[in-house]
Amino acid sequence: MKKRIVLALGGNALGDGLAEQMQAVKTTVKAIADLIAAGHQVVVTHGNGPQVGMINQAFEAAAKADSHTPMLPMSVCVALSQGYIGYDLQNALREELLERGINKPVATLITQVAVNPADPAFLNPTKPIGSFFTKEEAERLMRNGHTLREDSGRGYRRVVASPKPQDIIEKETVRAMLEADQVVITVGGGGIPVLVEGNHLRGASAVIDKDWASAKLAEMIDADMLIILTAVEKVALNYGKPDVQWLDRLSPADAHRFIEEEHFAKGSMLPKVEAALAFAESKAGRQALITVLSKAREGIAGKTGTIICQ
Ligand code: ADP
Ligand code: MG
Repeated sequence: MKKRIVLALGGNALGDGLAEQMQAVKTTVKAIADLIAAGHQVVVTHGNGPQVGMINQAFEAAAKADSHTPMLPMSVCVALSQGYIGYDLQNALREELLERGINKPVATLITQVAVNPADPAFLNPTKPIGSFFTKEEAERLMRNGHTLREDSGRGYRRVVASPKPQDIIEKETVRAMLEADQVVITVGGGGIPVLVEGNHLRGASAVIDKDWASAKLAEMIDADMLIILTAVEKVALNYGKPDVQWLDRLSPADAHRFIEEEHFAKGSMLPKVEAALAFAESKAGRQALITVLSKAREGIAGKTGTIICQ
């Protein structure tokens, strides 16, 4: 059966650094092309942790050297990372498809994601980004509207909020591209966080979790399946312990219970299970799959990975 799939790529799909990323995408696009070749409609989303850190640090270094150079707002850092990662992915995927005789346009969409200014995450920004600053440097940056926190005696670091995605601004464009049988790379790095102020969208000092943004997108474009590709083949109970138990199928009720029992690490597996669960619960028939990049095709066939569905 041909499915509409949102495929979320984790950090291991992109590697760390420029040279590594160029190499990593060559393997990554093979897994994506397999799904396209099988006739599925595919939307690709991805994380941006190392890349957004690199971009932010480059501009921070420039701002330290010259006080007239502004530090980039986090929304701009995310936008730059979408362009850079999207370029590598669309370039490599286009080539892989052409090698297989598939002539399908591939493009990256710079995507904004609305967040709620009343999201409690804004009251307590927790996600540290970039390098360390001295007290004096931090005070200057704070006067310019940035939020910095002392980080365990090591100096000051920029911290941003991680609010939940509310709306994908460019969702109609994603749909239109899918309906025209094109491959779209979207909500990179969780999307550019924006606050809706009438007709104006204002960049927010935040980063959105890519697993949550991918689940929101999957809901909004009425996908059949959300596939979260990461570094492990299956989700586990007692992960990293001798009595580890790998899960094949997870009902929403069990998923809720295991979340309560804290089986999934905050900031890594927890957002994946929560996002997968939210998508699976949003409508009957919707399935979420968490597996490793190289097993995507087998996962869709129900042979491996962890499936979350009603
Ligand atoms: P990504 O870049 O794909 O988002 P993360 O490192 O954020 O990857 O999350 C995936 C990691 O979560 C796995 O590589 C694994 O080490 C870790 N993890 C934490 N808890 C679990 C669990 N219960 N089951 C499986 N993996 C887990
Ligand atoms: Mg992650």
